[in-house]
Amino acid sequence: MPDCELLVECPFFNDKLRKMPKASDMMKKMYCKWHYAKCARYRVATVIGKKAIPDDMFPGDTRRSSEMLIQYEKK
Ligand code: SF4
Repeated sequence: MPDCELLVECPFFNDKLRKMPKASDMMKKMYCKWHYAKCARYRVATVIGKKAIPDDMFPGDTRRSSEMLIQYEKK
């Protein structure tokens, strides 16, 4: 898979989140470079919009992103 299309502007990828996880380099490889379609931030951005991404959401927060998407689809 190619790099995530949000990579240049993504606060997680660019170390701009207030609390970056210790394993952030590994997450960047796993999600941003390989499997971005599974990233919680990417999923929220593409369905609800970039502005809806919580500041403290990490790529692996899939449960949280799924809950957000379910709530969004109920509207
Ligand atoms: S995969 Fe997720 S964390 Fe990585 S650049 Fe894309 S939106 Fe940001």
